Amino acid sequence: MKAAVFHKPGDIRVDTVADPSILDPQDVILKVTSTAICGSDLHILSGAVPQKEELIMGHEFMGIVEEVGSAVTKLKKGDRVVVPFPIACGQCFFCNHEASTACENSNYKHYGPNGDMLDQKGAALFGYTDLYGGYSGGQAEYVRVPYADISPRIVPDHLSDEQALFLTDIFPTGWSAIDWAQLKGGEVVAIFGSGPVGLMAQKAAWLNGASRVIAIDPLDYRLDKARAVNKVDTLNPNNVDVVEAIREMTGGRGADVCVDAVGFEPERNFLDKVKATVNFEMGSMKVLDLCFQAVRRMGTVSIVGVYGSTYDNFPLHRIFDKGITIKQGQAPVLNYIDKLIDLVKEDKVVLDDIITHTLPLSEATFGYEIFEKKQEDCVKVVLKP
Ligand code: NAD
Ligand code: ZN
Ligand code: ZN
Repeated sequence: MKAAVFHKPGDIRVDTVADPSILDPQDVILKVTSTAICGSDLHILSGAVPQKEELIMGHEFMGIVEEVGSAVTKLKKGDRVVVPFPIACGQCFFCNHEASTACENSNYKHYGPNGDMLDQKGAALFGYTDLYGGYSGGQAEYVRVPYADISPRIVPDHLSDEQALFLTDIFPTGWSAIDWAQLKGGEVVAIFGSGPVGLMAQKAAWLNGASRVIAIDPLDYRLDKARAVNKVDTLNPNNVDVVEAIREMTGGRGADVCVDAVGFEPERNFLDKVKATVNFEMGSMKVLDLCFQAVRRMGTVSIVGVYGSTYDNFPLHRIFDKGITIKQGQAPVLNYIDKLIDLVKEDKVVLDDIITHTLPLSEATFGYEIFEKKQEDCVKVVLKP
């Protein structure tokens, strides 16, 4: 079959690889119909999240069940399903405590970039390096889905792939950023980063009762997108002092909630072109500082952007003084997916309006390139195997 394979940093290309097969009675094999490229995939492409071996990429995918393991009871051949990105056993302590992203059983391969076993396992993810279990991902014609009775959800016929696909990751991720702040209604929510994850957090903020949603991004075309699809206010940090602007918009108090939907932005020497348009000085951990400055006293900072290193100068004084609540981590997709699929079914939210590029899987390298370099006004790439 064909699949988008990571070879080394900067080198993801479509190869012919072996078809997956059932390895455990709880597996199904899925024929992938749609799969997306995520900002998290860019961390592997850049080398910031290290991977030594070749790996089939992709943790945002859906498709049709092709083959069913003997122990699977909830799915049958021909079912159309969407698959959450964390792999969860459904049986362990964490899976039983609404913490499936800490599943103790899915990540049996857990070892670090130097080959050393890590002291504590976290859940495995599809197509997300040996650190997260080394599972093949879904940017492929077929993918093996373990514990198939636990995470996959059947998609009703009337929903398009494009409306269902983002239930795998970015809609639940944006939702968790807002859910962690437990809005009561009427809050001002400032969302740093207006990529796919930020755009989904904007939708979630409205659905959870925010009275004002502010999107912050140095790329004007992404702010245009945010205004067009989510009717939010926008700020470009290259033009305004974001913290001052947010304080002015909130009677001097600051936003009730700040979301970091940016994460770390390591140096990428093949990104020279981007550096001309994106102010990378503003990126990286500094977004977090802005969140802590822009949030009001007793407010919440939700961090869904991925961080992969230590952070000196962590502003504990400000966090203590303002009594800020901080939440971060992989989105616990399983906690939300049934509620969110209902919102989509009932037409309460549109998800496909962030897609800018739909490409055949064979053009995955190009898809990665425009998404990484922020070219062609790219916001979200969907690949069709
Ligand atoms: P993306 O690269 O498309 O979006 C990031 C956006 O941040 C870009 O639009 C960029 O211009 C903007 N940005 C850069 N510096 C900024 C600054 N200083 N202030 C404001 N905006 C700035 O990626 P994405 O797909 O939207 O993902 C965003 C982050 O979320 C990534 O780190 C990704 O790994 C992470 N993520 C986390 C989870 C989770 O479960 N926690 C799930 C999916 C993605
Ligand atoms: Zn993702
Ligand atoms: Zn588990």
